[in-house]
Amino acid sequence: MSALGDEIKALIAAEGPISVERYMELALTHPENGYYMGRDPFGAAGDFTTAQEISQMFGELLGLWAAETWVAMGRPNPVRVVELGPGRGTLMSDALRAARIVPDFRAALDVTLVEASTTLAEIQYETLLTSGAPIAWHPSLSEVPEGPMILIANEFLDALPVRQYVRSAGRWRERLVGLDSAGQLAFDIAREGEPYILAKADEGDILEVNPSAHRLMFELSTRLGRQRGVGLFIDYGHGVTSVGDTLQALRAHRMVDPLVDPGEADLTAHVDFAAMARSARAGGCAVYGPIDQGDFLRAIGIDARTRALADRAPPERVEEFELARQRLVGKSAGEMGALFKVMAVANRSLPPPPGFEPSEAPSS
Ligand code: SAH
Repeated sequence: MSALGDEIKALIAAEGPISVERYMELALTHPENGYYMGRDPFGAAGDFTTAQEISQMFGELLGLWAAETWVAMGRPNPVRVVELGPGRGTLMSDALRAARIVPDFRAALDVTLVEASTTLAEIQYETLLTSGAPIAWHPSLSEVPEGPMILIANEFLDALPVRQYVRSAGRWRERLVGLDSAGQLAFDIAREGEPYILAKADEGDILEVNPSAHRLMFELSTRLGRQRGVGLFIDYGHGVTSVGDTLQALRAHRMVDPLVDPGEADLTAHVDFAAMARSARAGGCAVYGPIDQGDFLRAIGIDARTRALADRAPPERVEEFELARQRLVGKSAGEMGALFKVMAVANRSLPPPPGFEPSEAPSS
């Protein structure tokens, strides 16, 4: 068992079972032994590969998306470009390079990175050292100063801890992590039901709720209502609230048991975009999408970008751009185009953000 696993076991032995939410939070962001706190988990040598690590095109297109969004916002100067959970800083680095073709935007922007891990913040610092943009770090969105804002979050919401409830004897009871008779971490359920959850379901069904993601969405949306701005969320998840256990652990690109060696595997849960949209609307913003990542990237120009890069590439690299494009937009198994969704949250006075048709704004 990992050091964090032993610590969590001791905690449960002393205080009783903990919620899945608390378990996930400890596994990911425990100050010393949380998964994100002491390592670089990305890429072929790590545990998982994200869109920004697949191809420079992803960040470049989002940089141009941000520039276009800035123009639609009325070219505020300064404008804060915020990224939640930047990982290695690759997306921001590619975005800032691409945004050079809109010099007024480049000159107006301040970069703000929201990152819980000092290890990753140091890697982001190295990645962005030569970008030429002013950059600040904050541990949470609440600490980011007010002002016009363009916010991007790729695979951030899926890392926020979920609560799980199990349908049992006509009640929703919270799913817990306790200890089995051998003293190992094991799922358990609370004795008491939660009378305020009214959704009906079948015995044994699991309902997930993400309180931190709701708080974040509501906070962002009230801010974007006060000041001009747009937020863009890219993640894997579902567009309609439904039941199911989506908690998963990835280690070295393989699914592992989420209760084995906490702190050593990435732990995520699917994003409930319908629930996120409800919180964003409650905060006062218009919501666009979610649409498939593949459709979004094509709408903002990935096909032309692929051709342009392939045309200029040495022959041995031509194929690389087409393969990356396919992986990002393709909708077959193993490709990201349909698995990942894109949702925008915007001040109501702004037009639909680039990549979203007006018809994609569901009436609220
Ligand atoms: N966006 C990057 C990284 C995704 S992984 C990419 O696509 O590659 C999740 C990122 O969010 C990591 O940088 C992680 O350290 C950060 N993170 C996770 N939980 C966080 C929290 N509660 N607050 C701030 N950052 C967090």
